[in-house]
Amino acid sequence: MIEIDRITKVYDGVPAVDAVTMTAESGTITVIVGTSGSGKTTLLRMINRLEEPTSGEVRINGESTLATKPHLLRRRIGYAIQGHGLFPHHTVARNIGAVPRLLNWPKDRIQARVDELLTLFSMNPAEFRDRFPAELSGGQQQRVGVARALASRPDLLLMDEPFGALDPIIRARAQDDLRRIQRALGSTIMLVTHDMEEAIRLGDRVAVMDGGHLVQYGTPAEIVANPATPFVADMIGDVERPLRLLSLVPVSEVVENGEAPGSALPAEGNLRDALSACLWTGRTAVPVERDGAIVGRVTLDAIRSRAELRA
Ligand code: ADP
Ligand code: MG
Repeated sequence: MIEIDRITKVYDGVPAVDAVTMTAESGTITVIVGTSGSGKTTLLRMINRLEEPTSGEVRINGESTLATKPHLLRRRIGYAIQGHGLFPHHTVARNIGAVPRLLNWPKDRIQARVDELLTLFSMNPAEFRDRFPAELSGGQQQRVGVARALASRPDLLLMDEPFGALDPIIRARAQDDLRRIQRALGSTIMLVTHDMEEAIRLGDRVAVMDGGHLVQYGTPAEIVANPATPFVADMIGDVERPLRLLSLVPVSEVVENGEAPGSALPAEGNLRDALSACLWTGRTAVPVERDGAIVGRVTLDAIRSRAELRA
């Protein structure tokens, strides 16, 4: 569990982060969202003590971060930033193994961990482990950056706008990947973004920052349904509200018996993806699969009535 307790940072008499208090459960993704200058990066950097708080405290699994020397603390907390920050003259394997090497893991354990992570990120180890960052696509570099931050199984992974440099289509895939990998590894992640859509898509909990204050903290469904302030409502945006609501409903909730033509959607997917699939292919229903077996279908009518019900 990560407990942030009245944490404050004052620069030149002006608070950049003002008495923020929140608790994040282990094994979850917490997304900190806000406009530029709202204090997101400062908040994140106080957690691993790249910035020292003016007042307040962070506890990780009950232990104050002030009890550990900053450089040792940062070996237990992964940090991934926009533009990956890979060492250009080191291979993929060396980049991913950087922190385990600092921690003196045995060589074979590091190698096994590198291969495990590459596989998890859908990159064939034999093909990729000896490449240099310049020999990878932007999306692959970004995945290696995240794999590196996860390599030592950190207590916590901090991510500051990690997908900011990716184009929208790759970005959606990177988000899905992160979600899948976080679930597989049970990692605890705090991620900063200015994009409310990303927050809703990725967060188990979403923390909305405005002018250094935490203005709302809740599940995506709570925030979409009941924005705490006009600012939060603005960030959500009224126009796409039905679509955003659909993105919160799993396909499994409206799956029905019956057949439909074409390629199947996973039951764990959401209704927004199902709607896209229908519109894109001109179908009125799509098959749904779980663990490779067709379990039924979802119809355009069912999606539509769900959007109207919840809008
Ligand atoms: P965000 O990541 O949400 O864009 P930041 O945390 O980077 O916001 O910045 C919050 C506020 O604190 C901004 O007004 C910024 O100018 C100010 N700030 C950030 N870092 C410093 C610093 N090192 N010195 C002075 N002011 C800073
Ligand atoms: Mg920032």
